[in-house]
Amino acid sequence: MQELRVLGAGRLAWVDAPSPRLSGPGSALVRPIASASCDLDRRLIAGVTPFKPPFALGHECVAEVLEVGDEVTSVRRGDLVSVPWKIACGQCRQCLAGRATACTAVPRHAAYGVPAGGHWGGLFSEVVEVPFADAMLVPLPPGLNPLAVASASDNLTDAWVAASRPIAVRDEARVLVVGGTESLGVLAVQMAVAAGAGSVDYLDDSDYRRALALRSGANVEPGETLDEGYDVVISATRDPQALHRGLLALAPGGHCSCIGIIFEDPKIPLFGMYLRDVTLSVGVCNVRPHIPTVFDLVGSGRCDPLLVSPTVVSCEDAPEALVAPQAKCIVVRERIT
Ligand SMILES: [Zn+2]
Ligand SMILES: [Zn+2]
Repeated sequence: MQELRVLGAGRLAWVDAPSPRLSGPGSALVRPIASASCDLDRRLIAGVTPFKPPFALGHECVAEVLEVGDEVTSVRRGDLVSVPWKIACGQCRQCLAGRATACTAVPRHAAYGVPAGGHWGGLFSEVVEVPFADAMLVPLPPGLNPLAVASASDNLTDAWVAASRPIAVRDEARVLVVGGTESLGVLAVQMAVAAGAGSVDYLDDSDYRRALALRSGANVEPGETLDEGYDVVISATRDPQALHRGLLALAPGGHCSCIGIIFEDPKIPLFGMYLRDVTLSVGVCNVRPHIPTVFDLVGSGRCDPLLVSPTVVSCEDAPEALVAPQAKCIVVRERIT
């Protein structure tokens, strides 16, 4: 089978790899049919992250199930499923406590498409093994467009969790989204609106993304003075100074969800935050429990993820499309079941 492999900084190609097999009675083999680029992927390809090549790329997809082990009960051959980015057993103490991102049954950081906790394959590959199929896979409801939820594995669900958690406990929340990565900021605008925000402002240097945020329901001219103006800030930027500005924009009692990955240790205005009694949450997202909600939001038209994924390409065109600037991209493959 073929996998899309990062070979070195800026070098991405389809290469032959051994076909994965069922490793146990609880595992499944799946074939990705709609794989999305995560906002991290372009940087992984460019070689500017701590994760060094070679490795198979991709950790967002909808796949068709090809084969399941004897003990798998929730899916069968031919089902369409969302495949979460994180490998997790669903049964260890951490998983049962809702912290699948810290699953102890596998190496720390075990995930698709990122060589941080071993190599588990990438979700652009032709075939992928899912070792804990019942715990991980989420079947798509009938009629849901696989392309629209290709990103439920990571970015789309991350945006929902980052927005909905703080908004759920604040009436008429005034929300500021600090954009800067390809899709997360605009997705966060859509999810903030869906979660019932009172207002959503969007801050970003990119005219392209500001136009998408405007279409998603944000005010994109928030003005110069942001300080202490927002109950909720969603920081989807890699720029430490933009994060800093977002933190200063928190009103007393506010909450900042930081979902843009910053590899450095940025300056945090901690004393001012202390005096305002604010919360900063940062961390990888445990997507699996929230994917059914995200399916409902997309199915009912309350968010439109395809707005940030205008490029849909074949496998052949994927290496070129994945290094192009601006937008999230979806790679499609024919079904065989
Ligand atoms: Zn990701
Ligand atoms: Zn576990």
